[in-house]
Amino acid sequence: MVKKKMVFSFPPTLVEEPVTYRLIKDFDLQVNILRATVRPRDRGRMVVELRGEKDNLEKALDFLEERGVQVDPLVQEMRHLGERCVHCTACTALCPTGALKVDSDSREVSFDHTACIICEACIPACSYGALESQF
Ligand code: SF4
Ligand code: SF4
Repeated sequence: MVKKKMVFSFPPTLVEEPVTYRLIKDFDLQVNILRATVRPRDRGRMVVELRGEKDNLEKALDFLEERGVQVDPLVQEMRHLGERCVHCTACTALCPTGALKVDSDSREVSFDHTACIICEACIPACSYGALESQF
């Protein structure tokens, strides 16, 4: 069993297709939608956590790409710009997953991209432009 967080970008022609249903039914995957912006007649984007057998997961991602869905790892979507961060900790209280957290000894804020779900709750809290989303 493997687990991956991915970002799917849909062209307008695929926005209304039941893609997640196909992933569950045809590839026996568990699909947890973490975030979605899907509008008819516009590009859709979805952050998903997928769990399943490695072979099934690879086949499912191939299936999506064949259908015209762009598949990217989640890591590229949210960035903590360390050179701008002053470690004020304002963002950490707003982060629902603990992706942004403060070290109790150094008082420095760190970002764990593997825990981030791109909810963007942290971005307005940062007055220093140290948090950016590509979503
Ligand atoms: S986008 Fe959401 S989950 Fe990611 S670091 Fe910001 S508040 Fe945390
Ligand atoms: S709010 Fe901005 S400057 Fe403050 S700790 Fe978070 S990322 Fe750093």
